[in-house]
Amino acid sequence: MEYNGEKIHTRTNSDARHCLIVANSIQQNRDNQTEVVCLHIVITGFVQGVGFRPFVFRLANEMHIKGYVTNNAGQVTITAEANRQQIDLFCESLLSHAPVNAKPIIESVNETSVVNFEEFSIRESSALNQSDIHILSDLPVCEHCLNELFDKNNRRYLYPFINCTQCGPRNSIITTLPYDRKNTSMQCFTLCDDCNDEYLSPENHRFHAEPIACDTCGPVLNFVSDKHNITENKRALEMCIEALKNGKVVAVKGIGGYHLMCDATSYEAITLLRKRKQRADKPFAVLMTLSQVECYVDANENETSLLQQSSRSIVLIRRKNEAEIPQNLAPGINRLGVMLPSTPLQYLICHYFQKPLIATSANISGEPIITDNDDAKDKLTKLCDAFLHNNRTIVRPADDPVMLYNNIETQLIRTGRGLTPTEITLPFKLTKSVLAVGGHIKNTIALAWGNRLVISAHNGDLSSLRGYKIFQQSIKDLQQLYQVNAEIIICDAHPEYASTLWANKWATESNLPVVKVFHHYAHASSLALESAGKYQNMKWLVFSWDGVGLGEDGTLWGEKLF
Ligand SMILES: [Zn+2]
Ligand SMILES: [Zn+2]
Ligand SMILES: [Zn+2]
Repeated sequence: MEYNGEKIHTRTNSDARHCLIVANSIQQNRDNQTEVVCLHIVITGFVQGVGFRPFVFRLANEMHIKGYVTNNAGQVTITAEANRQQIDLFCESLLSHAPVNAKPIIESVNETSVVNFEEFSIRESSALNQSDIHILSDLPVCEHCLNELFDKNNRRYLYPFINCTQCGPRNSIITTLPYDRKNTSMQCFTLCDDCNDEYLSPENHRFHAEPIACDTCGPVLNFVSDKHNITENKRALEMCIEALKNGKVVAVKGIGGYHLMCDATSYEAITLLRKRKQRADKPFAVLMTLSQVECYVDANENETSLLQQSSRSIVLIRRKNEAEIPQNLAPGINRLGVMLPSTPLQYLICHYFQKPLIATSANISGEPIITDNDDAKDKLTKLCDAFLHNNRTIVRPADDPVMLYNNIETQLIRTGRGLTPTEITLPFKLTKSVLAVGGHIKNTIALAWGNRLVISAHNGDLSSLRGYKIFQQSIKDLQQLYQVNAEIIICDAHPEYASTLWANKWATESNLPVVKVFHHYAHASSLALESAGKYQNMKWLVFSWDGVGLGEDGTLWGEKLF
């Protein structure tokens, strides 16, 4: 490990701090702490879409560092010039003061020739052809924006799409990387002068907030019912609240797709929704505020903190005996699926409705959540009395994730918005990139390369046309976003799964090897991987209770013991 003009640290990600300490100690050994040096610092990890560049910019200015920061696909690179002492502090602060949603990793630090920069600037992003890309999930509205949302004197008072560098849509709006407004579905909204000033002002917390928007220039709500078609934020919201108060079912476009909403305290409204959805007794998830949670469920400390996690998952919590819950909400089940508001729109709806609301994914049985306005009109008209659309395009669907605390640990029942794309670090390194195309029902796919594994959102049942379409889109999408082309395809051994048929066809067309895995083995292996950190070097006994899957002997197996 050398410092003088040489690379001192590469890819010991787990111990980036150590890298800095080493760099510092080498520097401190030098006599001249006032000597001006220029460092080229490469930072990876979760640094896209979390306000990392603006943070670097502000930090550099505060610390009198000159140079520039730029965003490549997946990386932030900084060229920083100052005296050694200042550079030390700067490097330390890059990690210790990073924005709350960022997980920066110092990839490398190189000393280069001094340029004598006059200022510190943010330079245009450039797309790089490499696979060290981390994509951030959608984030719930932050405290700061929430205060502005309900502040009468703020120009974004009650604006349902308020966001900043610390919150708002990410995964659901990114079309390509690097993460810049022009590469998101916000590109069609031209910034007004006020938003543009904020976007360009380094002191503003919306400096380079890519989905920045306001009532003047951003997305707008559109309420549609038999009698009304209102495209105006405050009025559309009022109409939606009125419809809900009248026991109607409203299809509300959220961050990752449409929800069907109705009054969760009304037996009649729930009956109506059940009848239309043809859902006899499956429980519905309920959207409620934290204070309402206390009235309806017995949440312990772990469950309360799960509810508040940034994924804003549906958490299955024991219902309170004394709580007045319509008996048709979750019949025969002692837990209730509860979710806190995540988007500014949901906060507004909860605030004005004042009671818990059913918020169930609007989809046709087995298909992924509906995301497109026209698709919603086609498929949901029979299920709802009104729509609350908006004109921000959802690039990829994301259902609400579901979690459960089982008194020992948190169990993820279903991944989704706020968690996707899900990333797992493999305990080994792959020599070839692998695409696993999943099962036939409740499909998800996974792409793995090096020691990284990325899992898609839920693609649904591949028997449905839309499920199959989203499945194909996910395959293309993951490879394109992460700039990784699969070299090996893994599929289920069942010859008739749509995913297996796809894998065979694709492998023939692109001349790639296909590895077939028996269904229960796949479940067992995935459990082993998830627990690899905890129980290393142990022998496994895995029970796979998963209905039916093709077994080694060519017959369909039920639950199996390995
Ligand atoms: Zn915010
Ligand atoms: Zn604006
Ligand atoms: Zn299965």
